[in-house]
Amino acid sequence: MAASRTVEKVSEIVIDPKPGGSRAVFLVETRNSEETREVMNFFSDISDYLQVLPMSKGSLLSFAVQVQEGDQKMLDEIRAKLASRYGFVALHRSFDALIYNILTELCNDTGSKLLPVPKCDICGKVDPFPETIVNLAGEDGTPVASRKYCSTCTAQHSATNNKDFVISLLSADRKDFSRLAQRKLIRTPTRKQRIKFKIEPQAA
Ligand SMILES: [Zn+2]
Repeated sequence: MAASRTVEKVSEIVIDPKPGGSRAVFLVETRNSEETREVMNFFSDISDYLQVLPMSKGSLLSFAVQVQEGDQKMLDEIRAKLASRYGFVALHRSFDALIYNILTELCNDTGSKLLPVPKCDICGKVDPFPETIVNLAGEDGTPVASRKYCSTCTAQHSATNNKDFVISLLSADRKDFSRLAQRKLIRTPTRKQRIKFKIEPQAA
């Protein structure tokens, strides 16, 4: 859909800031479908305590995780637990282009399938845990678009107030929502950490 048509439908903008942290990637090679199921269940269980994003499926399983800054001990514990049971376990203590390239190659070699990982809608960088998510919704709250921005782009577009911040992000977005900058945004109260704006209807 053309960005201009999308923009016309938007009557609500919600900024959803996500908690940051240290990223890491676990790679686990399994020998059979039972082991695959076990590993998937293991990561599903720990997603109660930390953020987890599965990045591949097949005999090579990989998961991006995000823990609170400095919580490296937890990563070591997870690795030890996996290593005691499975033949090949690797822990990469960041998420970067290098590990993503390695993962892509290993998936090719093992016939495993890469799963979609979110990309920043400004710089295009692959980012499993975007720092800012901006949801655009229509009149009745129906989702129109959900845009994701990495921590670098979030920092680059920081502003003295939330209205300037969100307009700056949306104007830099690859889909170009800069037309929203001409509209009047009205802050409306929300629960939690979300920041919500209503767009004043345009005079016909
Ligand atoms: Zn970015």
